[in-house]
Amino acid sequence: MKTFNDFGLNEQVIKALNNMGFEEATPIQEQSVPLGLQGQDLIGQAHTGTGKTAAFGIPMVETFKVEQEQIQGIVLTPTRELAIQVAEELNKIGQYKGIHTLPIYGGQDILRQIRALKNKPHIIVGTPGRLMDHMRRKTVRLQQVKMVVLDEADEMLNMGFIEDIETILTEVPEERQTLLFSATMPGPILALARRFMRNPEVIRIAGRQVTVANTVQSYIYVEERQKFDVFCRLLDIQAPDRSIVFGRTKRRVDELFEALSKRGYSAEALHGDLTQSKRDLVMRRFKEGTIEVLVATDVAARGLDISDVTHIYNFDIPQDAEGYVHRIGRTGRAGKTGTAITFVTPREMHHLRVIENMTRGKIARIPAPTIKDAIEGQQRLVADKLLLIVESGDTSNYKGLAENLLEENDAVTLLSAALKLLTKKTDHTPVTLTEERPFRTRQDKSRKPKPGGYSKSGGGGRKGYARTGGGQPSRGKSRFGGSFKQEKRA
Ligand code: ADP
Ligand code: MG
Repeated sequence: MKTFNDFGLNEQVIKALNNMGFEEATPIQEQSVPLGLQGQDLIGQAHTGTGKTAAFGIPMVETFKVEQEQIQGIVLTPTRELAIQVAEELNKIGQYKGIHTLPIYGGQDILRQIRALKNKPHIIVGTPGRLMDHMRRKTVRLQQVKMVVLDEADEMLNMGFIEDIETILTEVPEERQTLLFSATMPGPILALARRFMRNPEVIRIAGRQVTVANTVQSYIYVEERQKFDVFCRLLDIQAPDRSIVFGRTKRRVDELFEALSKRGYSAEALHGDLTQSKRDLVMRRFKEGTIEVLVATDVAARGLDISDVTHIYNFDIPQDAEGYVHRIGRTGRAGKTGTAITFVTPREMHHLRVIENMTRGKIARIPAPTIKDAIEGQQRLVADKLLLIVESGDTSNYKGLAENLLEENDAVTLLSAALKLLTKKTDHTPVTLTEERPFRTRQDKSRKPKPGGYSKSGGGGRKGYARTGGGQPSRGKSRFGGSFKQEKRA
């Protein structure tokens, strides 16, 4: 592993990275940064959470000129949330050097964006549609653009942005550097790369994403009908500070959110049908820590960098190994350990095995918690809280009353009563959840990964990665065992 001092970066950039808590470069950074600094076109294939933002952000900030008050770089992202997040990270990397980044995205007042653009950002990060708007209005000038980054290119393809991207790429100067990042390399992305990039180096980080190593993975075997009660017990026992629960469809997410709220958990829903302002609000509250459980669809949560997520619950099993890795990549980040628990219905057991093989991770079975476990968990929680108050010593106002009570009752009885009062009762408020059909992979097709699949490149080691000189990535198919019914994604 290289430290950031090995790249010969400007002191202000190093200082910023230190300030951000970055010590060693991640594998994708280790390979992308030197090539990016040399002006090389790059295709980077790596999963979420591997540090791709800094992999392109460092070369941008390092090579752009502060005194040149024009847009020198653009980053295209599939969603507004990602645009905001990437812009935040770039602003952090550029904080001492004075390189400014502005996010522009649909749903935000365009006049406000036009005013912000007058402050002359060096980099803009935006969704393709909104950037096109600004290009048509001539409120952005792209003549000085030196670097274009396509972030989460496969996701932009899924969202139908490919034509917009082509238009944008034809309108930026031909003399430029193009970097493309994508978790998968479907045909249209490769075609785009062939058409708009010059001898790109392909960097592929093989196998599991680095951060999964920090996540304890397990599954609970449970009937569809029992899922919700088991889930509430889990929440009572684990009392996660910040968790995400994944549902398969938008309807599922809405129903789960309502059911959790009815039972008194602080939850919010995140999916593609919400208005932008609602999504922003949910994200803000989640980051602030005012929401215990974020209920989300895959697409809504994809690529979001939310730090400090302690628990991931797959209420519905993800549709494939890639989806699984994406989901659990939301936890166990930046050296912290996380917990990921997947609910598996009897008919989904085979599907789980397929995922397990593909990710080469061990997903251990744990028993479904019983009501008794949940109650004990709650009691432990209350006792912990009580002890915390004892430690803080802030109880003088209550001492007189306590002494009076102790004259007529013994201490154990009194304390037990207090614990009882503080412990959350098991809540049986009825809730309705529409049943989801189980996910199943067809046996014959999905037993073995195809040659050239996940486990092939880079010598097979967990950290193994291969760099090939502009060749075609060996990975042929983006979805494994894609023979099951695909639900409409959110
Ligand atoms: P990706 O785009 O690959 O999904 P991100 O760029 O969003 O990954 O990075 C994931 C998280 O890891 C972010 O919180 C980021 O700040 C952090 N991170 C990135 N690079 C490093 C590093 N070298 N050391 C420590 N943390 C890092
Ligand atoms: Mg990213």
